[in-house]
Amino acid sequence: MKFSPAVSQLAPSATIAAAAKAKELKQSGITVYDFTLGEPDFNTPDHICEAATKAMYAGKTHYTPAGGLPELLQAVCDAAKRDYNLAIEPKNVVISNGAKHSIHNVLTAMCHPGSEVLIPTPYWVSYSALVELAGGIPILVETDESAGFLPTVEQIEAKVTGRTQLIMLNSPSNPTGVVFPKELMQAIGELAVKHDFYVMSDEIYDKLIYPGWEATCMMTLSDEIAQRTIIVNGVSKAYAMTGWRIGWTIGDPALIKAINKLQSQQTSNPCSVSQYAAIAALTGPQECVTEMLAAFTKRRDYVLGRLRKIPGLSFADPGGAFYAFFNVSEYFDKPLQNGVTVSNVSDFCTELLGNAHVALVTGDAFGAPGYARLSFATDMNTLEAGLDRLEKFLAG
Ligand SMILES: *Cc1c(COP(=O)(O)O)cnc(C)c1O
Repeated sequence: MKFSPAVSQLAPSATIAAAAKAKELKQSGITVYDFTLGEPDFNTPDHICEAATKAMYAGKTHYTPAGGLPELLQAVCDAAKRDYNLAIEPKNVVISNGAKHSIHNVLTAMCHPGSEVLIPTPYWVSYSALVELAGGIPILVETDESAGFLPTVEQIEAKVTGRTQLIMLNSPSNPTGVVFPKELMQAIGELAVKHDFYVMSDEIYDKLIYPGWEATCMMTLSDEIAQRTIIVNGVSKAYAMTGWRIGWTIGDPALIKAINKLQSQQTSNPCSVSQYAAIAALTGPQECVTEMLAAFTKRRDYVLGRLRKIPGLSFADPGGAFYAFFNVSEYFDKPLQNGVTVSNVSDFCTELLGNAHVALVTGDAFGAPGYARLSFATDMNTLEAGLDRLEKFLAG
């Protein structure tokens, strides 16, 4: 079969592929220390599940408006008010099948053939793929660990052209966990105003912020910036609801209308029962978020403590999300466990899995050669045993 150019050129998601490889090994009966997971390991809190069950038995199992239930649109507005004192209305919001779908919709609605979309590196695997799928051209803005994985305004401005349509920001970041300072977000917003492009701010980890760090909502920075901002968020990470597939876009009513039109032809509404669950998540007690964050904080501190003790590894401190993103290139071309040697991080991850049964995601997938991503969204015992094995693998 001859596939469309869009699909022929599309690579499968590297994180999903890495998780599948780990799973394959597990199925052959081997204990795998799997740190590829891009999702909370907790179950969805009970009160959220109960709201879904109740909705299901009350017959709320039919189509809803394509862009989401009015009650959920309102719940997103109320949460924005509660969390950021942000005044938005339901006409500014559209619900989709997860934040990944929201991002796809934003890009599909906004990209013209040849539109340029700025993406600071390291970036979430799907960003560049989704830009290409929408007919745009990803323009990478390289950052590195010495800069705390933060781009400068000058670096971004150097890549702006007449075709720049959008910049995709993600703070806290997957894969680095880095949190953009408010001043930097402000400066990027002002740059967007100056050069007439838009900012898509993926704030999916905004509730997973560690003590001493602060999340900034791009839309709160100024009226001018707000008009050029599109926020993407959802319930997946904050409420341990990845499988429910509910995300949303906040933006100008014209864009929201366009996405509604797109969605009406493409998917119709997001799952009705999941929407009721999301209403419960947003309007119900928020202690579950705090409790999960407390567990993540413990794990983060443990993992960073262990990584700091391993000679030759380096990383920027994650202020949010649940990933450690560290440089392993000091270990290239040196004998590792079982005499193995590697010269790039993808081979490093393959050998680490094969020899030590520890699964990480290669930084090659995030535009960061030499780095590996470890998700600490897993229990302490697995973290402890897995880090022991990583240490042993590196020691040779
Ligand atoms: C997990 C994730 C998303 C999307 O999550 P959904 O499950 O599709 O809502 C979006 N952006 C980043 C950076 C993520 O890590």
